[in-house]
Amino acid sequence: MLPEQSAVLAAAMEAYLAFDTTGRLVAWNPAAETTFGYTQAQAYGRSVEELIVAPGQRAAARAELAILAGGRPGRSLGRRMQFCAWHADGHEVPVEMTLTATDGPTGRVFHAFAHDITIARRAGRFAAAEAAVARGLAEAGSSTAAAARVVEALGVKMGWPVTELWVVDDDRQLLTCAARHVEPGRRLRDFAVDVLEPGVALPGRVCAGGSPIWIPDLGTDTRSVRSRAAARIGLRVAIGVPLTTGRQVHGALCVYGDRVEDPEDTLLGLLSGLAAQIGQYVERRRAEELAIELARTKDEFLAMVTHELRNPLAAITGTASLLDDELDELPPDERRHCLQIITRNAERLSVMAEDLLDLARLESGHLAINPADTDLADIIRQALDAVAEQPGKNLTITARLPEHLELYADPSRLRQVADNLISNAIKYTPAGGTITVTAAADETGDTITWTVADTGIGIPAAERPRLFRRFYRASTALDQRIPGTGLGLVIARTIVERHHGTITLSDHLGPGTTFTIELPAKPQ
Ligand code: ADP
Repeated sequence: MLPEQSAVLAAAMEAYLAFDTTGRLVAWNPAAETTFGYTQAQAYGRSVEELIVAPGQRAAARAELAILAGGRPGRSLGRRMQFCAWHADGHEVPVEMTLTATDGPTGRVFHAFAHDITIARRAGRFAAAEAAVARGLAEAGSSTAAAARVVEALGVKMGWPVTELWVVDDDRQLLTCAARHVEPGRRLRDFAVDVLEPGVALPGRVCAGGSPIWIPDLGTDTRSVRSRAAARIGLRVAIGVPLTTGRQVHGALCVYGDRVEDPEDTLLGLLSGLAAQIGQYVERRRAEELAIELARTKDEFLAMVTHELRNPLAAITGTASLLDDELDELPPDERRHCLQIITRNAERLSVMAEDLLDLARLESGHLAINPADTDLADIIRQALDAVAEQPGKNLTITARLPEHLELYADPSRLRQVADNLISNAIKYTPAGGTITVTAAADETGDTITWTVADTGIGIPAAERPRLFRRFYRASTALDQRIPGTGLGLVIARTIVERHHGTITLSDHLGPGTTFTIELPAKPQ
């Protein structure tokens, strides 16, 4: 070989290896060292099939070598072929290889040029998975069918043993598995759970945190019982990405595998891209469903608005005309009483107008939040002061608050939440009841927990999941003909969520209702 030829082979980006008719390696360039993981010194003299062929394929490779040694072309000589080679550290490397032969003084020598096609293969696989998911979303007639198509497309194209799509239900209190693809022959046993709470297991953690999670070893993931159930059925790694459109987390896409061939960031990139597509789909579907629901509730809405407008307006006009007719005859305290009725009803109308405006802003995504350093204890005290007088109700209102409770939030929006929860507690608690408001930071000072509890009419457990829907009014409130619009809680929840917090209806011992809000104290 000319010196230039050896220099070219040493500098080549293609792996070059040569072997004789017994398979013994006689040439091995630096690119072969990188592709297959053996140094030249380790490779020389060893047999080619033992070095670069996966254990399961070695017998076939030996048979092929015998054909080549016999002077026949076999399946490989003069062809461009792709196969999974074996790396020194025991993993498969997909390669494209060409094999030629020369006859020299020492006999026949075979020359192989090979290059790693992992990246090209991966790109092809990813593109196929993306296309399959896009097709699944476009063609499916319903959200359920779309979810099934997505997990199937991903599971089959990417070869993952388990692929799951989880969605957050309307009231954010539970996650349900919308679809799951399992490779044939794998039994899921106690890994097959269909409902989870936010924060629990991989889907719950992804939804609660809103960012991707990579579990490199399910067997040692002590945070989750489900991870250990996954490890027991042979799953090793898991990745979960949120289905999000930037504003809201709609669910999680989770895949579980025996091993992961692709680099972490590439895979997360693919999954996040797909999750964004699915998130948009879910959001579009929800908007359509909302439109249908809106059309259905339009009549109820009109009835509610008319009723809620008519009552205070009737009170205002009635009292105003009474004042007009009898201004001179009415004693001063009667006149003041009339003016108070007018003011109270005008305030009721203005609160309702504000709520409707907020609802419109909320739906168009324009509910502004202007955070600043804020004292929640002060806000709650002000809201309580504003309702201190409850004529005829004789409620005991207790507050357990620290002197100051600092957090980074929009003070006027938090005041709106406080006003809504406290006025509800008052409105839905009969005379003689108790209202307790507490707020405190946890030991780390990161999270603030704020509760508003009352001993009032309560909300039946079965109705709780619907409580945060627009215009929803519980049967307990309707039965007692307590006026309301069903808007306040929807707005309160949006405000809390825009502060990266949660609002939930806690289980309540005895009659009454407890709302619990958790808010991060520091800027997110
Ligand atoms: P509104 O009170 O104007 O109807 P909200 O959105 O504030 O609207 O509340 C929605 C519904 O939730 C109420 O109609 C009522 O049925 C129920 N609710 C809210 N807070 C309480 C409470 N403290 N006790 C009992 N029911 C409540």
